[in-house]
Amino acid sequence: MSLETGAPQRTSLSVEEARRRILEAISPIPGWERLAIRAALGRVLVEDVIAPCNVPAHDNSAMDGYALCAEYPPIRTGDAVFEVIGSAFAGHGFTGIVKQGQAVRIMTGGVMPAGADSVVMQERVRVDGGRIITSADIRPGQNVRRAGEDLAEGAVAIPRGKLIGPAELGLLASLGLAEVCVARRLRVAFFSTGDELASIGSPLGPGEIYDSNRYTLHGALTRLGCELLDMGAIPDRPEALEVAFRNAAAAADVVLTTGGVSVGEADFIRELMGQLGEVNFWKIDIKPGRPMAFGRIGNAWMFGLPGNPVAVMVTYYQFVMDALLKLSGLAPLPQRPLVPVPCTTPIRKPVGRREYLRGQMYVEDGAWKVRLTTSQGSGVLRSMSEANCFIVLDEERGDVAPGDTVDVQLFDGLV
Ligand code: AMP
Ligand code: MG
Repeated sequence: MSLETGAPQRTSLSVEEARRRILEAISPIPGWERLAIRAALGRVLVEDVIAPCNVPAHDNSAMDGYALCAEYPPIRTGDAVFEVIGSAFAGHGFTGIVKQGQAVRIMTGGVMPAGADSVVMQERVRVDGGRIITSADIRPGQNVRRAGEDLAEGAVAIPRGKLIGPAELGLLASLGLAEVCVARRLRVAFFSTGDELASIGSPLGPGEIYDSNRYTLHGALTRLGCELLDMGAIPDRPEALEVAFRNAAAAADVVLTTGGVSVGEADFIRELMGQLGEVNFWKIDIKPGRPMAFGRIGNAWMFGLPGNPVAVMVTYYQFVMDALLKLSGLAPLPQRPLVPVPCTTPIRKPVGRREYLRGQMYVEDGAWKVRLTTSQGSGVLRSMSEANCFIVLDEERGDVAPGDTVDVQLFDGLV
């Protein structure tokens, strides 16, 4: 891919085109470490995990009941009688051999004794002293979990590129693996820009606002498992911003800034990115988040996010997060479902740009619906806090009337 230098382009990109350009430009960072599996939670595997053994390791019973050989008696109708010769509980096997006409009491997970091929569940059995009586209609192999049925020795248990979550931790443990190799943490430097920004803990001066963007980003980046370099709030002075950019780019894989990226008098971010490095694009047909610059300085990828707190979150989730995941080695990137639901609030929407509105999915008369949160201003962070989804209106989409179907992207998954 060729990056632009000098004057940035004038045309704005569609959301899809911007995503494509970002994801095409970047590739996973080098570097990995070997970790104890618990410490690998939330990290990305850099090599296939190969099953060192069968799972389950032995043929075992799927039921509480009796293990026996189904081939005997050959009659498939009427009752069959078996002599109970011992027991096989989980962790305590039966060491003898089961012969024709014999059975072994077995519990779920108990290892199948030699000679037995089937399990009759206890509810199907009548006990008569040392014997059991059951229907002769026994299917060979019934109620038995075969060794290697879940995972055969030598097979790929978890492919490289997978994010390690609770299921993967359990799976690794079920294979007896104590350590795995994961990609190193992505280093992300970030700073806010703006002369109006005050730090929490000090009273607000005239015209000042508290810097919230750094806290939002702290939350999002921490959840993603990045190594953070919070560089504070930088005033709207090109010299100060240049120093911050240089320090950030030297220390991190990715640099995120917020504010100062549009075309106002105090907006230096795009110009500086172009001077110190390269700008790939800086305008997207999206609301909120239209000015968002992507490029690089030295070896660091740069995202100049807008200043408005909601626009920060929209551009972070729609562009930055997947870029960070790809840089961290995640492959394939997750498909994020768009769910069609009826919208109960009317929405005015011009054709030509994609909008990400803050929505609340709720149940009414037993059906899922979505409505807008009370305020939709791109500076109103409360709308993100009240929302549980984005309502995504495509470029071609016009106004939405109550009852029309819209696509939503849910915030929460199972974590
Ligand atoms: P800008 O793009 O720098 O003009 O910022 C757009 C709007 O977002 C302005 O109203 C800023 O005051 C606000 N803003 C910028 N940075 C932050 C921040 N770190 N925290 C909260 N609001 C911000
Ligand atoms: Mg500003």
